[in-house]
Parts: sequence; structure tokens; C-alpha cells
Amino acid sequence: MADFKAEAERLRERLIGWRRDFHRHPELAFEERRTAEIVADHLRRLGYQVQTGVAKTGVVGLLEGARPGPVVMVRFDMDALLVTEETGAEYASEVPGRMHACGHDGHVAMGMGLAELMAARRDEMAGTLKLVFQPAEEGGNGAEVMVKEGVLKDPRPDVFLATHVWNERPVGTADVTAGPVMAAAEKFTCVVKGRGGHGALPHLAVDPIVASAQVIAALQTVVSRNVSPLDTAVVSVGSIHGGDAFNVIPPQVEMTGTIRTYEPSTRETVLRRVREVVEGVSAACGAEAELEIQPLTPAVINDADIAEVVRKAAEAVLGPERVTSGERTMGSEDAAFFMEEVPGCYFFLGSANADKGLDAPHHNPRFDFDEEALVLGVAILAQAAAFYLL
Ligand SMILES: [Zn+2]
Ligand SMILES: [Zn+2]
Repeated sequence: MADFKAEAERLRERLIGWRRDFHRHPELAFEERRTAEIVADHLRRLGYQVQTGVAKTGVVGLLEGARPGPVVMVRFDMDALLVTEETGAEYASEVPGRMHACGHDGHVAMGMGLAELMAARRDEMAGTLKLVFQPAEEGGNGAEVMVKEGVLKDPRPDVFLATHVWNERPVGTADVTAGPVMAAAEKFTCVVKGRGGHGALPHLAVDPIVASAQVIAALQTVVSRNVSPLDTAVVSVGSIHGGDAFNVIPPQVEMTGTIRTYEPSTRETVLRRVREVVEGVSAACGAEAELEIQPLTPAVINDADIAEVVRKAAEAVLGPERVTSGERTMGSEDAAFFMEEVPGCYFFLGSANADKGLDAPHHNPRFDFDEEALVLGVAILAQAAAFYLL
């Protein structure tokens, strides 16, 4: 068996160089032009068939092996965040107010490293490697746009792989979990409409503030009373706005919030109950509610067989005792749009190093990770792809 860890090790300095260059030059969703250009040049030099401008700034690289076989797609997200960096690193962001605070700079570097390792093995390959560098993971649903623009066609992938550097876990570890790992997410907007009036004459008004308070309290029962205690869901109200004056009952209150679920049937139940509670409780208060529920991303659900292959790859690189299973989060990830169509595995790559102070949470201005994760990530992805293609 090839020693992908040793091969990735030889790329170490370049992986770090790429990552730090991207880190210095963060680009927001759908604006990843510089990043995309560097990726596309690199892929072309390695002999990949390259398509650019997919979902504005996305890049797709195809490496066809010498013999036919499965198509393995590996996805890397490229976008940075509206965060002002406070790491003090010598490779800190050179763009004010923008920062790679989620580690996508590392993902792009890993993708370039993987591209290089696999290009060297093209003659042994049976099948096709499809590397997808995706814009706008952070709330822009770049993956959905890529799917709409046909990224899952010509050729259609048989297997989907993706990873995320993960500062909730130490570097040198990985978590590979079958089944749901990230939640389906929706945003809801709710307007509770009453009738405004004088604060001293509530009997002449319909008070949307009191109605909203009851709606919010009743929403807490959706998960606790309608979802199985063995299943998982979240309903959170994140904003509430109503009224301007201490002695005025306002005409309406606006709220927004989010709903997170894993199982499609649970999702249906929760969406239905949120609607019933919002409309019913408002009506009981004499108010009227307008509720809009907007789906953001489906759940990320890992295929059991592919997760097993990725687990073996991670164990080969890290050692079996350093690969866990069971990490799940109610966060969301637009890789789900690819995984709705193609069975796959999305795994968490440990990247924190508390001794070096590299353990701030994702999206924090002090976020940074141990670059050892780049070497290990490339080795695991190459090993996993090799199980299908070599
Ligand atoms: Zn993020
Ligand atoms: Zn991220």
C-alpha cells in the first residue's frame, strides 16, 4: 500500500506556503477570484482538465486515470469571513475586516496538495478524480449554485468526500461518523400583528408584545414535547423587535430565528408544529401571525459504506486510536447539497493545538489552527480516494 503520509509529508512546506498566502489574502463569498486563479493555474500545470467560473468563482479540475472506474469528487471551500483578525500571526490577513477565520484557506491548500499527489499517480488510476473548489460556503450556499450549474454532471460522481479542519478536536485526530453529522437549517421570520394603542388602555388594543412573549414560550415546547427524546432538534428565536415608547402598545412585533434538525421526518414535524404554535398562540391572543420559513441547507448525512472507507484511510494515516466517531453538530454545511445527490462522507479533521495557542473557536478573530493538519488531511483524502481509484 502506498505511504500517503510520507508523500504528503514531502509537500509540507508548500502546503504551509499556500495556506499562508491564502490567509494573507482572504476573499469573501463569490469574490474568491485570486484564490480561484491560483488553484486553476496549479491544476492546469498538473495536467487537469480545468473549468473556471462555476458559480461565479468556483473551479473544477478533472483528472482521468489510465483506465475506467468510479468518479470520486472531493470538495474544498474557499471563502473567508467578515472578521477582523486578531491573531498577530506574521501571515495575518492583509485585508482590513476580512479573515480566513474558519480554515477554508487550509482547505484550498489541501486541495492543491491532493491534486499534486494524485496527478503523480494518474497512470495507475482506474477512474476519475473530480476536485471541486467551491465559493461561498459561509451562508452563500455556493454548493447549491454549483449543483444548479451542473457540477454533478459530466461526469457524475459516484463518491463524494469533504473534510473540515476542526478546532474542537486536537490536531492528529479525526472523527468519521456514519449518518447525520450536520443539521438541516432553516431561517424563520415571524410577524405578530396586533392593534396599537395607549399603554394605559390595553383593553382598546391587541398587544403583540404579550402575544410574542407567549409565542416564544410556547415554541420551547416544540422540541421538548413533539420531538422524541432520542432524536435531536433546535428551535431558537434569535431576534425580536417591537415598540419604541414606554407607554405605547405597538402594532406589531417581528422575530427571526432558526430551526435545526437531522431526520427529514423530524424536520417535517418541527416545521409543522412551529407554524401551528405561532399561528395558534397568536390567534388565542387576538393577534395574527405571518410566518415565513426559509430552508437554508439540508442535513449532511454520511453514507455508512463510504464513511467506513474514510475511517480506514484516517486510521492508516493517524493510527486507529486517534480516529473517533460520534461527532455531530447542529451547525450546517452546504456540502449537503452535493450529498443529497451523491453518497459521501464529510469528516472532521482535528486541528487545535492548545500548547501553541492554536485553539480559538471557528469564526473567532483569534482563530488559527495547527498546520500539521494540512499534511494529515492531504494524506487521509489521498488514501481515501486511492481506495476507490488505485
Ligand atoms: Zn465557517
Ligand atoms: Zn467552515
